[in-house]
Amino acid sequence: MTSAAPETGQAASTGLAGRICVVTGGTRGIGAATVDALAEAGATVVLTGRDEAKAKERASRAAAATGATVVGHALDVTDSAAVRALFTEIAREHGGIDCLVANAGVLEDALIGMIRDDLVDRMLSTNVAGTLSCLQAAARAMMRKRSGAIVLLASIVGERGNAGQSAYAASKGAVSALTKTAAKELGRYNIRVNAVAPGVIATDMIAHLPEDLVAGRVADTALGRVGTPEEVARVIRFLCGPDAAFVTGQIVGVDGGLVL
Ligand code: NDP
Repeated sequence: MTSAAPETGQAASTGLAGRICVVTGGTRGIGAATVDALAEAGATVVLTGRDEAKAKERASRAAAATGATVVGHALDVTDSAAVRALFTEIAREHGGIDCLVANAGVLEDALIGMIRDDLVDRMLSTNVAGTLSCLQAAARAMMRKRSGAIVLLASIVGERGNAGQSAYAASKGAVSALTKTAAKELGRYNIRVNAVAPGVIATDMIAHLPEDLVAGRVADTALGRVGTPEEVARVIRFLCGPDAAFVTGQIVGVDGGLVL
């Protein structure tokens, strides 16, 4: 394990100081906010994105802002061989992997009659197969230490459905099923597996949605607004840490009451 970042009040309270955390899709949005939240807690964070320069630049920014060790690597989660190779390298270099946040995901809308095979491939290969590859690679490292915390990114759409998002909803429903199944299988190794199910969060992912559609979703949200990536990141950080030691197999809504 590499040296821990300085003990701050926050680091002590979350119990994440010195932990090795991997965040996929850490270059933007919820993933980037999660990188910051974990680094602020004193964790050593390895973030990934498809573009190496962007991943390294985002990591330097997080390291400079928090004083923690943050490194960036290129990784396309749809390439399972590359996932295995990178996670093996991370575990070797840092002496293990304590936390995985499998956040990388894509969203494309299409009505059922308009869905093309390549769209289905993109949703399933990234959101389902990519998430499963990362979970498997992290679990192998965690099983050796008989300890670990994994957080997956589900979605309210995977629980409730949403017109125009069949392929995405199916992929996120699969993530919820994976969360519960992996929690049952990995519990004996003291590995916890949970997911967050965000509602409407202000990131690039929803930037393409028509304003009236977002306004409709906000009107259905009890708190009457969209959420921020930081609000999701703080729940992910909680699920990664020892305060959630007896929490596993849960899909935790972070949706401002949209699910009600
Ligand atoms: P963004 O579009 O802002 O960011 C997506 C991230 O995923 C980027 O860092 C991107 O990296 C990465 N990524 C995409 N495809 C791949 C791939 N094949 N391999 C590696 N990395 C990849 O999305 P959000 O932050 O909004 O979403 C994060 C997660 O939260 C997703 O799983 C999403 O489904 C989920 N979610 C989001 C909601 C929202 O309202 N925003 C609601 C519910 C769930 P790069 O492009 O740099 O390679």
